[in-house]
Parts: sequence; C-alpha cells; structure tokens
Amino acid sequence: MTQPLLIAADTILTGFDRDGEPILLENAALVIRDGLIADAGTAAAMRRKHPDTDQTGGAGTAIIPGLINAHHHVGVTPFQMGAQDQPLELWFAERLRMRDVPPDLDTLYSGFEMVASGVTTVQHLHSRAPGDVAAVLDRANQIIGAYDRLGMRVSYSFAMRDQNRILYDDDQVFLDLLPAAMRPIAARYLAGFGLNLDDQAQVFHELRKTYRDKDRVAVQIAPANLHWLSDAGLEMAARLHDATGAPMHMHLLETPYQRDYAARRGRGSAVEQIDRFGLLGPDLTIGHGVWLDHDDLALCRRKGVCLCHNCSSNLRLKSGTADLNAFLAAGLPVALGIDEAGINDDRDMLQEMRLALTLHRPAGHDAPAPTAAQILRMATQHGAATTPFRNRIGGLAVGQAADLVVLDWNRVTYPWQDPRTGFADVLLRRAKSDAVLQVLVAGRRIFVDGAFVTVDHKQQLDRLRQWHLRPRTKTDDEIAELADTALDLVRGYYGTWR
Ligand SMILES: [Zn+2]
Repeated sequence: MTQPLLIAADTILTGFDRDGEPILLENAALVIRDGLIADAGTAAAMRRKHPDTDQTGGAGTAIIPGLINAHHHVGVTPFQMGAQDQPLELWFAERLRMRDVPPDLDTLYSGFEMVASGVTTVQHLHSRAPGDVAAVLDRANQIIGAYDRLGMRVSYSFAMRDQNRILYDDDQVFLDLLPAAMRPIAARYLAGFGLNLDDQAQVFHELRKTYRDKDRVAVQIAPANLHWLSDAGLEMAARLHDATGAPMHMHLLETPYQRDYAARRGRGSAVEQIDRFGLLGPDLTIGHGVWLDHDDLALCRRKGVCLCHNCSSNLRLKSGTADLNAFLAAGLPVALGIDEAGINDDRDMLQEMRLALTLHRPAGHDAPAPTAAQILRMATQHGAATTPFRNRIGGLAVGQAADLVVLDWNRVTYPWQDPRTGFADVLLRRAKSDAVLQVLVAGRRIFVDGAFVTVDHKQQLDRLRQWHLRPRTKTDDEIAELADTALDLVRGYYGTWR
C-alpha cells in the first residue's frame, strides 16, 4: 500500500448528476489511496480526517476527471507524412504513402500530446498492422507497452477486416484499375494485411490473456466498418463479444458513400444490417455515424448503443457534419474522439472539446446547441462508457480511479474572468493545454509542470526525427507513386456510383 495523497483545489468536478449538471465541490480535496478516490469533501474536513496523508495542490487550481479520447489510431499524422487531407475514400489511397513508423515511437508521440492536454485514457483502434499473428501481436504489445511506460490507461483493439481494403469493393477491382506495372506493387502491399478471421480472433484472445491482470490495460473488439467485413466477419465479431462481453467500437456511416455502400450491399440501412448480426447494444460504440438518419438513431436508442463524435476528422476528411444535437436529443451516450488528428494536426483534447462546442450552433434563436457541460460529459463520463473500464473511470466519486487533471485556474482566468460564469463554460471556452499542471493516472503522477515523469520527451522526439531522416527506400518510392496514381483512379471509380 502506498502513502495516501490528499490533493486540494478551489474547485473539483467529480462527475454529473442525473440531469447532466456538473457536480462541483468548492474549496475541496480528494484523498487518493491505492490508485482510487478514497474520500472527497471540503479541504478542511479532509485534512482533519486524514492527517497522515501527503498533501498537495491548493489555491488557484481546479481538478477535473482525466479526459478520454475515445477514438484514436496513429501517432505521426498522415499529413506529417505527406498525405494531404482528402475526402475519406480518396484519402485511403492518398495515405498509402505513409511510412511504417516504429510502433513504440509512434505511440509515444501522440501519447505526449494527449497527456499534455489532459487525456488519461485512450481508445486505441489499431488499423495498420501487417504480417502474421506473431508480427501483429508484437506491434500491439509495443503500442500497449508505450502507453504503459508513459503511465496512460489504454483500451486497445485490433481492427478486424477481411475485405475491400482500398475501395468499397473487392480488392481485385482496385487492382484492375491500376496500370499493369503497378499491380504487383499494390498486390504485395495488400497481401501484407492478409490475416484471416480466425487469426484475427486469435490476436484478440492472446492479448486479453496477456493483459488480464493489468489495471491500466483493457482489450476490446473493433469490427472495422461494414464494408471492411464480410458477413462471416460480422458474425465473428458478434461471437467474440458474446463469448467475452468485451465492448466493441465500429466505424459506421462516416460518409455518404458508406451509406450508399450499405444500400448496394442490401438488406436495409447500415445500422439494420449490423443489427441482423446482433451487434447493436450497450456494448457497441458507433464511431462517426455522420450519416445516421432518424430511423437509425431511433433503433440505436432502443438498443442502447453509444456513439463517438469525431468532430475534427469529419471536417478534415469532408465527411459531413454529424448532427450532434440530434445525437444528444436522442439521449444516447456520446463520446468524443480526435481520430487521426485534430484541426491543429495534433491530439489536443481541450481544443477538440472547444471545436465540438462551437461547431454545432445552427442559426435560429431556438435551434439547439450543445452546452459546455454536455461536451465535458462526452469527454469524461460518456467516453468512459465506451471502454471496458466503464464507470471505474470518467469521474472522481469515491471508489472511482484517481485519473485526474490539475489545472492552473489562475492561468485559465488571467487577467480576468467573471467569477459568476459557470465552471464548465470557462473550462471549455478558455482552458488551453498550458494550464495543465499535473496529470495523474491511477493515483500516479505522469505529467508535472510541463514535464513527463517516466519518459524523456525530447529524447523520444529526437529518435522519431532521426528515424524519419533515414533515406527513402525503393519500396517507399514505389508506394508513393502508387498513391499518386491511385488517387485519380479511385476518384473515377466513385464517379460511377452517382
Ligand atoms: Zn477512425
């Protein structure tokens, strides 16, 4: 048992009440023992009751639950590696040019950005892992290991896919679009991602076994998207869920082309199609869902599905604007995810929250718009609900994990902020990552005064830069040429759809 810690602040947000209003403690303190919130109350009462604690924090600070980035894939962004933002379907071709960054370095890079903006838990959806079962497991272990070194909490899933890797159509259709000289290059590339469904299930089971007893690591299921899975693949995802109860996170209806694909595949809307396999329920989170219609939302509501709003990504990849107000009005838990990168091409969760707050404000005095409290709840409590950690995280009530962010509230409100403005409003509108003083995960400090406690930030970024300075290989150049050529061909292919 470690020495208990008492951490005080002017304001502590411990969670949300039944109406979604923030529960705030003023002049308060939390007592942390064995990684959990052991007690909470006024600072004076906590000091009297727990005189044997190490004491920290105090005036001029605020504490919020650690933020949850509920949808994440990679570290170094596609843009950093030369892939311009494109409409999603074209971007799949554009991003072929990305080099294969060592997974530990790549994970630390975005992990640094997340933690520095107050993220304590990430839903890592691992979608690029070539090779056999052993190679995929090695990558997964490197990714999970990097989060572990940094001290973050991670819900990891390996994206299940067994078809249509580039187009919403057979891989052979894509190969046939290409000039003959490029087909072997593309075929070789695609063959690298050839794990069959049984192998993919084995990856899931092995990882669950490996991390069974690890408090800060959980493994869940990621049926990648309707078009990426055959009926057998959708069935497999449902079976894995039935056997283990592990939650699932699935991209769905990200663009109008994905809606059209569902119509071509037949048997109802995309949501109805996955419902046929038993995937809809409280253990499923739909990522994006930009093109969910009214009936789809009603079905999701009946089944208790969670949604994940990926605001920046929808903008950058021209996917459309999700009707967040309709999601919230339907009463579904909605999480918030930064996806590959936010509007600043980084993983700044405070920025992503501000974007979500601001984007969904349609004209009209009475038109709905999200409140700051709703967005904050998305990034904490509702994000938690989409992970296997559930309500162990996402709030700071007694018994929950001590995953929290200490903010320099003087900095947030300097030189002036009307003190009558609500706490959540001020946090959402004015807090930047330079106000993040400390980040704790499971009661352990992982970020203090701008520095990472367990990993040398500068050294890792230098390693990453050195890796990228390596001379390009023949394969790098061939793949970049393939991406250039494929872009127009893929555009032409979808031109025949409409
Ligand atoms: Zn995604």
